[in-house]
Order: sequence, then structure tokens, then C-alpha cells
Amino acid sequence: MQRDVAINDIWDGRFYGKNDMAKTGCNGCEGCSDCCRNTGDSIILDPLDMYCLTIWTHKSFEDMIEKEIEIRMTDGMILPNIMEYDEAHPEKPEGCPFLDENGRCSIYAFRPGFCRLFPLGRYYVDEAVGNTQEEISHDAGAEKASCNTEAEKKTCAAEAEKMSGDAETEKMSGDAAEGKLSGEPSENAQFCGKITHGRKRGFYYFLQKGECTKADAERYEVKVSDWIGVEDMDPYEKFICTWHFFLKDTAAQLARFPEKAREQIARSVLQIFYVQPYDRFQDFYPQFEARLASTEKQLAKIGFRYDADW
Ligand code: SF4
Ligand code: SF4
Repeated sequence: MQRDVAINDIWDGRFYGKNDMAKTGCNGCEGCSDCCRNTGDSIILDPLDMYCLTIWTHKSFEDMIEKEIEIRMTDGMILPNIMEYDEAHPEKPEGCPFLDENGRCSIYAFRPGFCRLFPLGRYYVDEAVGNTQEEISHDAGAEKASCNTEAEKKTCAAEAEKMSGDAETEKMSGDAAEGKLSGEPSENAQFCGKITHGRKRGFYYFLQKGECTKADAERYEVKVSDWIGVEDMDPYEKFICTWHFFLKDTAAQLARFPEKAREQIARSVLQIFYVQPYDRFQDFYPQFEARLASTEKQLAKIGFRYDADW
């Protein structure tokens, strides 16, 4: 989820890369689970979170919906988030449904990416670099496809309907700040991303300040990659970039469509990347890449352009 905030209000003044040390460690967490309560709808799940959750809980998306997770419109797309308030059990204290009776995370080993990051955030950079041929053709391509005339609207709606139908028949089978850079990255900070088609796209990590409510909690330095704690950071960060910019590009291009088609496409994306089960015996990343390639191909038929090429 993008947060529309002035970054200088929430950060410690440094950007970090995965090999940097950041003051994320906390000795005061024992017996405190404040971070897992009153989170509202802020813990947005990405497809890797869904893969891990369904595998480790042995529950499907449908099993979890309206119990542990809910869906809502986020930054123009329909995405699932952890559901903090259980309407069926209003007597339960508000908080993450995965908190156990001792106030500990019952899914710690496969907790969502947002939880792994906290109190770090990701600061995304997306800026034009130079005036390359690719940049010009990208802009022209984006202009070319439209759903403005009645005939175009009909074609777009039909393709959106078809895509939604495809998703249904294939039934067998996402943190961030983005704003104006008002300071320089520290000399150690590694930018995660690349220049692609005339745009510099990627992210830095930053440390959010004021997120820990325990005044006497002491924080100590931990290497960013150790703090996030995924097995292999390279494919993970590539996935994070790919997913972020896929959502961003899709939401931006959806704006050209009539409301009904917008919703159908957003629902199809939800269906393809979250509802359709993943094969638990296969790695996540190739499955994600295959779904992404086929989705981009479908969307290209109605004029979407994706030039990320990570
Ligand atoms: S509020 Fe602070 S002490 Fe409590 S769980 Fe979060 S980071 Fe730990
Ligand atoms: S999934 Fe675990 S770490 Fe994340 S909010 Fe819930 S209890 Fe806390």
C-alpha cells in the first residue's frame, strides 16, 4: 500500500540496502504485541504471502476470507489484507487473528512481508532517466490504446469480461512510501532496482520512526537482510519490485476504462494471483512469473503496456 506522506516526517534520515545495518532489533517486545494490534487494514498481502499462508495454514483463500483476511480496494486494485476485527466474534480483542493467546505470532516463520519489514518501510523510486527512444515509445504506446469511443468501450468491456471468464475457468489452480526524494541516500545504501525503458525504478529501505509505542524499548542494529529473514534476498527483492510496479502500472492504465471493466480487471488480478491455488510442491517464483506473463499478455490485448522487464 502506498502511503501519501512526507517522508521526512516518518524516517530516520537514511536509506538502507539489504546489506546495511539498521536499528530494527528490539529488546522490549517480550510480552508486548502492540505492533500486531490496531493495524486496521494496513497489512496488505502480496501473492508470496498468500502462497505461504495457504501452504502453512492448510487453508485456501476461500477458507480464510472474512475470517483471517478481507479484500478491499487499495491504490486502485482489489487486494487482500489481514482482517483485524472479527465480526463473527465481537467479544475477541481487536488484533491480528494470527496472534496466539500469549500475544505471539502463531505464523512467525511464514509471516507476511509487511510484518517482516516492520519497522522498516520501502521507499520506491520511479523516475524518468534521460530522453531515450524507449521512453518515447512507451509514452506513445500508452497513449495509443484507449477506451474512449463507444466502439472502443465495447471492445474493452468484452475483453475484460473474457479475461474475468478465463480466470474463473482456470480456477483449478503488494508497504510503501512513494514521494519526493528530499534527501540523499547514505553512501552505503544499495538501490534495489534498475533502469528499464528509460525509467529508474526500484526501492530503498528506510527506518520508520515513532512506530514502536514502548518508550523504554531499546533498539539494536541488525543487518537488513537478516531482519527480513527470507532465504534468498535476490529473487525476493526482484519479486517485490515486479509486483509493486505491475500493480502501479495496471492501476494507472485502468483509469482509462469504464467502471465496470475496471472492476472486472481488478477482480481478475485478484483471482489469478491470490484465489487460484499455488502448487505447494513447486517454488513460488516460477509460478508467479508464469501467471504474470499470461496476465500481461491478456491485458496487452486491450492496450495495456508493461515495460518493466526486471
Ligand atoms: S510496540 Fe515496540 S516493543 Fe511492542 S512489539 Fe512493537 S516493536 Fe516490540
Ligand atoms: S501475522 Fe504475525 S507478525 Fe503479522 S501482525 Fe499478525 S501476529 Fe503480528
